[in-house]
Amino acid sequence: MVSAKELISYEDRWGARNYKPLDVVLTRGEGVWVYDVDGEKYLDFLAAYSALNQGYCHPRLVAVMQKQAARLTLTSRAFRNDQLPLFEKELCELLGYEKVLPMNSGAEAVETAIKMTRKWGYKVKGVPDGEAEIVVCEGNFHGRTTTIVGFSSEPQYRDGFGPFAPGFKLIPYGDLGAFEAAITPNTVGLLVEPLQGEGGVVVPPEGYLAATREICAANGVLLVVDEIQSGLGRTGKMLCCEHEGVRPDVIVLGKALAGGMYPVSAALSDAAVMDVFEPGDHGSTFGGNPLGCAVAREALKVIVDEDLCGRVAELGGYLLDELRKIKSNYVDTVRGKGLWAGIVLKEEAGGARRFCEALLRLGLLVKETHDTVIRLAPPLVITKDEIDLGLERLAAVLGADVLEEVGAAK
Ligand SMILES: *Cc1c(COP(=O)(O)O)cnc(C)c1O
Repeated sequence: MVSAKELISYEDRWGARNYKPLDVVLTRGEGVWVYDVDGEKYLDFLAAYSALNQGYCHPRLVAVMQKQAARLTLTSRAFRNDQLPLFEKELCELLGYEKVLPMNSGAEAVETAIKMTRKWGYKVKGVPDGEAEIVVCEGNFHGRTTTIVGFSSEPQYRDGFGPFAPGFKLIPYGDLGAFEAAITPNTVGLLVEPLQGEGGVVVPPEGYLAATREICAANGVLLVVDEIQSGLGRTGKMLCCEHEGVRPDVIVLGKALAGGMYPVSAALSDAAVMDVFEPGDHGSTFGGNPLGCAVAREALKVIVDEDLCGRVAELGGYLLDELRKIKSNYVDTVRGKGLWAGIVLKEEAGGARRFCEALLRLGLLVKETHDTVIRLAPPLVITKDEIDLGLERLAAVLGADVLEEVGAAK
């Protein structure tokens, strides 16, 4: 067996340096638990950034994946397959949209939404060719393509990757006045996250989404909501927008759409918008493949059958309340919604990374975002006892007087 140390050295030697993972080498997962190559067991409070809402290796997803893999995996869209139509019908009916366009990664689905919104702007709204503007928010995260990082407000995401595509206008997140001021006759859409995950689990002011809905409608602007991380149960609703009774014109899904088994993403809208796409306008070799569609169909059924939204509605408040009770010299504030929390550390805490490393030694997997925030997003199948176990470990680290002691304590 190749040791953890060797595996880490191979990855560092042969892999590109675009990530800095925690030094734990995982080999198996089940529900909310993962195991490293030395057999150590960890409680996971990240869920691959919400891609594993259904938990690691959900038995129903493994069964469908194996069955479909032995049957038919890829046809390309040159031909039809018997899974795509069912996936399309079931997803649209579940979320109340008329049309869906399937892709693979989240970034591709965001690109799809951008193309859809712009083409709608030209063909339906009548914006002069090449003039369409999309409003986006500071602190956004919509993926890593060159177009998308071009409108990021995070300097590192952009540095060295220009020139960037024009046509995006950046405004402060949660600021309705700034949104209204940014709108021109050429504005075609507002692209927004209902809660910024990568941005540090930033919750916008109450009523923000509902107000953007009205402003968009009044100005003939499409409301395009990126629910890739916030959707599919994470906040206690199938879509985070539902908390404010908002129905966007376009929604973007990814991550948990196939339960972490396979990359499946999608952009949804009604026919009045989606029908701007004509044959040849857009596509993907793997988008809508029968393997991804079969797994995604089952992943959606698991969310419904196991009432993961109901579980989150019940357990999410508890997690946030208990986190706020932890006595700590390092914590500035705790924010979040549902089973999704950001523990914001004080300046003097010296960064979130060392807390994540200390938690790893105690058997809890979490990851920092933006240097000073510890992000928590456990699989939604987690039990209250497992949440309590995670809270105990968090309290041990956040409550420690000297962090070095936490490592030594184990
Ligand atoms: C993860 C994420 C993306 C990008 O998804 P990829 O599958 O990594 O391309 C886009 N938007 C949001 C809100 C995300 O959390």
